[in-house]
Amino acid sequence: VFNFSPGPATLPEPVLRQAAEEMLDWHGSGMSVMEMSHRGKEFMSIHAETEDLLKELMGIPANYKVLFMQGGAIGENAIVPMNLIGATGKADYVLTGDWSKKSYKEAKTYGQVNVAATGEASKFTALPKQQEWKLDPGAAYVHICSNETIGGVQFHWTPDTGRVPLVADMSSDILSRPIDVAKYGLIYAGAQKNIGPSGLTIVIVREDLLGHALPVTPSAFNYKVQAEADSMYNTPPTYAIYIAGLVLKHVKKLGGMKAVAQHNEEKAAILYDFLDATAFYRNPIAKEDRSRMNVPFWLKDDALNDAFLKGAQERGMIQLKGHRSVGGMRASIYNAMPIEGVKALVQYMKEFERQHG
Ligand code: PLP
Repeated sequence: VFNFSPGPATLPEPVLRQAAEEMLDWHGSGMSVMEMSHRGKEFMSIHAETEDLLKELMGIPANYKVLFMQGGAIGENAIVPMNLIGATGKADYVLTGDWSKKSYKEAKTYGQVNVAATGEASKFTALPKQQEWKLDPGAAYVHICSNETIGGVQFHWTPDTGRVPLVADMSSDILSRPIDVAKYGLIYAGAQKNIGPSGLTIVIVREDLLGHALPVTPSAFNYKVQAEADSMYNTPPTYAIYIAGLVLKHVKKLGGMKAVAQHNEEKAAILYDFLDATAFYRNPIAKEDRSRMNVPFWLKDDALNDAFLKGAQERGMIQLKGHRSVGGMRASIYNAMPIEGVKALVQYMKEFERQHG
């Protein structure tokens, strides 16, 4: 089966197999990872290895903390302003689709939040150009969503925010390509697309940004408290961290971020090249802003949607239905989607067009 689900968690098959093998007895410990004390030597080694692998693969500089938290990216929509906005009392948000709009709405509770730029004029089919951004040099941070999972736009450039720290929700494209972490003040992501199962939230934060938490911030969501406790202030999502570690090892074996990015570019190109060559299907996103992770597309006639999905399902291609807010179809092609999956989809799309075009 090729699973085109936008989440949670499409994992590489070798990782699932290894997890199944180790399920009852991890490395001769006699325990499942789920049964381990999070402060015991076995789990501490898994935790440290996972963190080190993430640092190595993403090239995270030494002046950044990696936190393994819970609450998901929607939790971070509140946790980020609670921790950072106190530095100046205000923050800039760039709106590029549903997820960044949600982040902006949530942040308003915690300070003065401004829209620095919006893609609304294009109905969020294109990113607002950097020259149009109205950034406030007094903002505590500038927030973006690097990949809009629903709308299908993605940043293929890193915004220049001067001395103001750039904060990015990378939930749906973290670990899909090399990035220069040093250009960001903070990166957060729910793990459940490219890294592991849901339940784990990754936060990568520059150390000098710690220490501005608003007094209302719960201790478990206070980055400084978690950084000082090595993400063990409360019980971390141990099993999700373990699976994330297996995924990271797998990614390293594949050749790291460059190899993964090349694979993802190839997959996306196959799908977009086909979409651009047919009038039967349509993807309205500006070419330079198209997501390599989530590819929304619409059939010429919505009345054919059910037949399209049924035929796909019969051929082992599942979860292609578009997000309920936008309709149509969406092919999510995260790291774990093999190139054969995308080729099979395009093959089927051609066949369906021949029958119904
Ligand atoms: N941000 C983005 C870009 C997402 O894709 C998602 C989920 O799909 C979320 C936030 C919400 O994440 P969570 O469900 O982990 O809170």
